[in-house]
Amino acid sequence: MTSRPLLAAFAAVSLALAACGPGISSAPDTTTTAAPTATEAPAVSTGGPPRFEGERAYEHLRQLSSVIGTRVAGSDGERRGAEYVANAFTAMGYSVETTEFSFAYELSTAEVVAGGKTMAASPLSGSGAGTVTAKAVAVGNGSEAGVAGKPLAGAIAVAERGVVFGDVHDRVRAAGAVGLIMLNSDGGSAEGNLGKKVEIPVVMVDGDAREAVRTAARDGGSLTLTVEQTTTVTSRNVLARPAKGQTCLLLVGGHMDTVPGAPGALDNGSGTASVVELARAFAADGLDAGLCFAAFGAEEEGLFGSAAMVKAMQQANALPRAMINLDMTGLGTVDLVGNADLAQQAENLGKELGIKAMRTTWPNNFGSDHMSFQKAGVPSLTVATSELGKFHTPGDVLATIDPSALEATGDLAYALIAQAWKRVAQA
Ligand SMILES: [Zn+2]
Repeated sequence: MTSRPLLAAFAAVSLALAACGPGISSAPDTTTTAAPTATEAPAVSTGGPPRFEGERAYEHLRQLSSVIGTRVAGSDGERRGAEYVANAFTAMGYSVETTEFSFAYELSTAEVVAGGKTMAASPLSGSGAGTVTAKAVAVGNGSEAGVAGKPLAGAIAVAERGVVFGDVHDRVRAAGAVGLIMLNSDGGSAEGNLGKKVEIPVVMVDGDAREAVRTAARDGGSLTLTVEQTTTVTSRNVLARPAKGQTCLLLVGGHMDTVPGAPGALDNGSGTASVVELARAFAADGLDAGLCFAAFGAEEEGLFGSAAMVKAMQQANALPRAMINLDMTGLGTVDLVGNADLAQQAENLGKELGIKAMRTTWPNNFGSDHMSFQKAGVPSLTVATSELGKFHTPGDVLATIDPSALEATGDLAYALIAQAWKRVAQA
């Protein structure tokens, strides 16, 4: 359905303000254009019929979520995702620009080494930074009874989730722990907030990492815990135009980045992969002047990528006449959020195609990239799924995607884009 709850993003932003001083810039403060480089070869590039093919989108999704994996803003994974998408667009004949932008943001990533294996972890909001290697000590759920008498001096405390994170931290820290790992509950969100800034690294683990850490804590084994933090993030957008410098009349986009720890199959490998396949489908019988495709970076931290693209297009006096965004398209039925006219068109097309699509609104703390264009006065719509699946968790993997939902949502997006493009081109 959507992306990161924006309230959580704002909480992290205020933390950055408190911790670091400099004000958050809502718009990018620097932009440079980098030439795309070839590292990932798109598995499915050109050819095929002028219609959306779910199998092709699924293969792009496999590359993004399983081969590349987690694509946090500013990370190597996001850069590789951008290169993959840029190479795919280039192979279809588009003129492709990859544009970097920077923004002030406190971003943390984490990993745990347990049993000789390095695994992703989710830093809790407010965690300290650094690397510690120490003996793992289990403290139950981190209650007073669990912590009492445990040999925590210089150790990494391991707690089952269940007690207020900040309180668990305070107890184990007072007993001398140098790190804290929370074992997530089954199906719980991997995100957590300590409610304050602390000195030691504090993370949540899930899946294989959770089992490895639990085993180490039971056996008194050693763990390595790393939390890395940055305060300026440099991310990138990829924009495919039919010809160099051509104004985009209709822009189709989706965000390629993920939250830390999540491979982002549904959020938003599915939408990004569908945008790539839509670009191919519309290029199959020749490029359409004014129909552009984009992959945005840094959506999860607060729509920074789409805001950067809007700003650049405004400066060039070349905003699109309409924008269609795909965010989470591989589960359930179709939800339509944004411009009422575009939503109505999509709903009508859904009826013709036998695809259930419904106009809806999101809670105030949800958002996606169509909002950046909408704010600039561009009629904009997000095509999304009705189900959230395991979004924003390590469980957001390819196996959770429903290929038939990916196909249906892509089919509907294709029909909507074809209709919207005719309208904007004639306007
Ligand atoms: Zn998201």
